[in-house]
Amino acid sequence: MKTAAEYIALEDKYGAHNYHPLPVVLAKGEGVFVWDVDGKKYYDFLSSYSAVNQGHCHPKIVDALKKQADVLTLTSRAFYNDTLGDYEKYITNYFGYEKTLPMNTGAEAVETALKLCRKWSYQQKGLAPDTAKIIVCDGNFHGRTTTIISFSNDPDARDEFGPFTPGFINIPYNDLEALKEALKDPNIAGFMVEPIQGEAGVFVPDEGYLKSAYNLCKQANVLFIADEVQTGIARTGKLLACDYEDVKADILILGKAISGGVFPVSVILADNQVMMCIRPGEHGSTFGGNPLANKVAIAALEVVKDEKLSENAERLGKILRSELANFDNDMITLVRGKGLLNAIVIKPKDGKQAWDVCLKLRDNGLLAKPTHGDIIRFAPPLVITEEQLMDCISIIKKTILSF
Ligand SMILES: *Cc1c(COP(=O)(O)O)cnc(C)c1O
Repeated sequence: MKTAAEYIALEDKYGAHNYHPLPVVLAKGEGVFVWDVDGKKYYDFLSSYSAVNQGHCHPKIVDALKKQADVLTLTSRAFYNDTLGDYEKYITNYFGYEKTLPMNTGAEAVETALKLCRKWSYQQKGLAPDTAKIIVCDGNFHGRTTTIISFSNDPDARDEFGPFTPGFINIPYNDLEALKEALKDPNIAGFMVEPIQGEAGVFVPDEGYLKSAYNLCKQANVLFIADEVQTGIARTGKLLACDYEDVKADILILGKAISGGVFPVSVILADNQVMMCIRPGEHGSTFGGNPLANKVAIAALEVVKDEKLSENAERLGKILRSELANFDNDMITLVRGKGLLNAIVIKPKDGKQAWDVCLKLRDNGLLAKPTHGDIIRFAPPLVITEEQLMDCISIIKKTILSF
């Protein structure tokens, strides 16, 4: 067996350097825990960017994968298969929509939503060809494709990847006046928004923002598109973060935890009026809607309900935030979030930054990753118990006090 340093050296030598991982080499996961190659055990406080809401290697989800893997894995959509219809029925009922379109990754689902929105704007809203515009928010993260990075504000995501896709308008996040102003343009087809900006550092908008934004979109005959790839599937304490304001997006984008991190699965959901704007041959994916994904996603969504993960996320999130907010120290300057999607803002001390805090957390048995310099996201699997959470909070406090 190789040492941790050898695994890291292998990736360094043969892999593109498009990530900067925390130096820990994982070999096993179960529930809220992961183990490194030396057998050291950690709490996972990132959950693979909220893909592993159901916990690592959930037996019910893994079992669904194994059973289907022996029978049929891929047909492509050139033919029907005996798993897709059941899955489509299940997920549309689950989220209350008439139709779904299955893809694989979050970025693909976002692309699908953007394309569908443009189609709708020409067929239903009557915009002139190639004039549709979609409003997005500053600080957004919707994925990594060329079109999606075209409207990112993150220089790392954009620089030297141009030329960019036109047809997008950026406005500040959590700013209804800016939205109202932008919606005056008659060529607006849609408004795409994250209900909480995850990658940007867990920015929670003002209460009522989503509902008012939705209403403004309705008045302007513009589609409200919710990217719940990170906030969805119980992460924020409700099935969807939009549920807090009783908003039903015209197009809902989901990914990550749809499969509990077992397999890349994403979808968009919409009602017929919107979804039927796409006709045969106009969009697709070889792997989208494959039998493995379909079975895995049903199992993973069942786990969310069976194990009451929304309720657990809501209850334990409150404990986590209040414990950290009441913790007397001079490094954590802010705690924010909803459910179990949380972040702390670190004030550097003696030259020690968020990255150093994460290294020390790792040494103390908890894995988290900085985002945008001084922010650390705290997002454990939603199967975490109160006792485990209290253990994590004491690790965090001990770590901070050691600086
Ligand atoms: C992770 C993420 C995506 C992209 O998903 P991938 O599976 O990495 O392509 C899109 N939107 C949001 C809000 C995300 O958090």
